[in-house]
Amino acid sequence: MVGQGVAQRQMMEDLETVLYTEEQILTRIRELGEQLTVEYRGKVPLLVGVLKGAVMFLSDLVKRMSIPLEIDFIAISSYGLSTQSSGVVRILKDLDRDVDGRHVLIVEDIVDSGLTLAYLRDVLARRHAASVRIAALFDKPGRRQVPIRPDYCGFTVPNAFIVGYGLDYAERYRNLPCAGILKEDVYRSSESAHT
Ligand code: 5GP
Repeated sequence: MVGQGVAQRQMMEDLETVLYTEEQILTRIRELGEQLTVEYRGKVPLLVGVLKGAVMFLSDLVKRMSIPLEIDFIAISSYGLSTQSSGVVRILKDLDRDVDGRHVLIVEDIVDSGLTLAYLRDVLARRHAASVRIAALFDKPGRRQVPIRPDYCGFTVPNAFIVGYGLDYAERYRNLPCAGILKEDVYRSSESAHT
C-alpha cells in the first residue's frame, strides 16, 4: 500500500497541471451515461472500445447506461513519434462481433488529428453498421486534420499531451485516476534517449 502511494506521487510529479480530478471525470461520465441511456433506449447498441486508452472510460460509462448493450474492442496502431499521431493507421486486433445492422458507438479516449476515428468510422460503415456514433472522453479540436466531431464528448482540452485515466505515455500513467498535462521534459528526455 505504501509502495503504491509513492508510485502515484511520482506520477503526479510528472504532471505540469491536473486538468480533471477523478471526481470531475466520473461526474461527467455519469451525465454522458444518462444521455446515452435516453438516446439508445429500445436499441441494443454495440459499444466498441478502442484499446487501450478507452478501457477506463468504457468501463465507467457502461455502468452508467441502464439499457441492454454489448461491448467489443478493437486495437489500432498509428505510427509516428510517441506523442504525435502520424495518420498511418492499421488494425492490430479486430472486433469479435459482426457489426452488420448494429448501432455502433465507438468509445475513444481522445480525439486529436481525428485520423484514427475517421478510419474506424469508415471501416464500420463499410461493414454495414446501422449507425456509427462516437463518444470521446477528451477532444482536442485545435489539432484536427480531418473534419470529424465526437457526437458525445466529455471535455474539450488544450493542445497538450494528456496522460492519466487510461491515457499513457510509453504505456505509463494509465492508472492515474485523474487526467493532466505531462511535463514536456518527461517526454523530451526519453525521446532524445531513444534517438
Ligand atoms: P488521432 O488519430 O485523433 O490523431 O489520435 C488518436 C489517438 O492518439 C488517441 O486514441 C490516443 O491514443 C493518441 N493521442 C492523441 N492525443 C493524445 C494525448 O494527448 N495523450 C495521449 N496519451 N494520447 C494521445
